[in-house]
Amino acid sequence: MNSVLDHALQYVSQGFAVLPLHFPFEREGSLRCSCGKDGCRQPAKHPFGRLVKNGLKDASRDPETVQRWFAGASLNIGIVTGAVSGIMVLDVDPRHDGDATLAKLEAEHGPLPPTWRFLTGGGGEHILFRHPGGTVANSAGLLGPGLDVRGDGGYIVAPPSRHISRRAYAISVDHHPSDVLLAPPPDWLMQRLAHRNPAAKGTPQARTDWRDHVGATHVEGTRNTALASLSGHLLRNRIDPFAVLDLMLCWNRIHCTPPLDDDEVSATVRSIARREIDRREARHAG
Ligand SMILES: [Zn+2]
Repeated sequence: MNSVLDHALQYVSQGFAVLPLHFPFEREGSLRCSCGKDGCRQPAKHPFGRLVKNGLKDASRDPETVQRWFAGASLNIGIVTGAVSGIMVLDVDPRHDGDATLAKLEAEHGPLPPTWRFLTGGGGEHILFRHPGGTVANSAGLLGPGLDVRGDGGYIVAPPSRHISRRAYAISVDHHPSDVLLAPPPDWLMQRLAHRNPAAKGTPQARTDWRDHVGATHVEGTRNTALASLSGHLLRNRIDPFAVLDLMLCWNRIHCTPPLDDDEVSATVRSIARREIDRREARHAG
C-alpha cells in the first residue's frame, strides 16, 4: 500500500471521510504550496478547492469519488475528524512542547491506550481515537501547550501526504491499523476537555471564563464564534469600537490557527459594533 490512492481507499473502507488537499511542488529550487500564493498560510495543508469547492463539506466516503480525485494525482490527503468519520484526534506538536504536555498528563493519569498513531511531516504526532459520541469541539492548547484536539468540523493531513519541509506523513509502525485497534479516548481526557473547553460551554459568563476564552487558541470552526463573542464583550463594556477593531486584529493573529483574513475580522467587528450602537441608541430613545 504505497500510493496516495491506496491510502485514500483504505481510509474510506474504514469509514473515514477524506478530501483532496494542496501539496508541495518544486519551483525554482524550493518547495511551494500548489495553490501558488506567495503568502499561503497553510502550505500543502488546505483543501484543494478545484475539486472540493465547499472544503470539508465536500469530503467523501464514496470509493468512486475518491478514485476520481486521487488516481494518478500528486494531491495530499485530508481526513475529516469528528462524528462524520467516527474519530477524534490528539495533535501533538513538539515544537510547542506538546510532547512534554502529553508526558505530564500521562504521568498524572496513566498512559494513553494503544491506538492508531500517524507521524506528521512537521515532526509531530496525530493520535486517533474512536469518536465518543456527542460533540467534540476542536481546541488548541486547552489541554496544555502544543496539545490540540481535532474533533467535529476539523481535519488532519494524513499519510502519505508530503509536508512542505519535504518530509512525508507516515503511519507509526508501532501503532498501525493492521496491528492495533482504534481505542476510545480515556475518560480523563474527555473530562478534562469538558471542563476546560470554553467553546463547549458557549459564551463565557464569569470573569475567569473570559480569561480562558481570550487565552485559548481557536481553530477553524471556532474562530468566528470566539471573535464575535470577544468583540461583543468588549463593545458592551464601552470600549471604543476602533480600539476593539485594533485589538481583535492582533488577537486574531496570535490566537487563531490559521488566522482569519483581516477583512473578515473587520467585517465581523463592524457588524457587531453597529448592532451595539443601535442597542445603545434604542435604550437612550426609550
Ligand atoms: Zn496554499
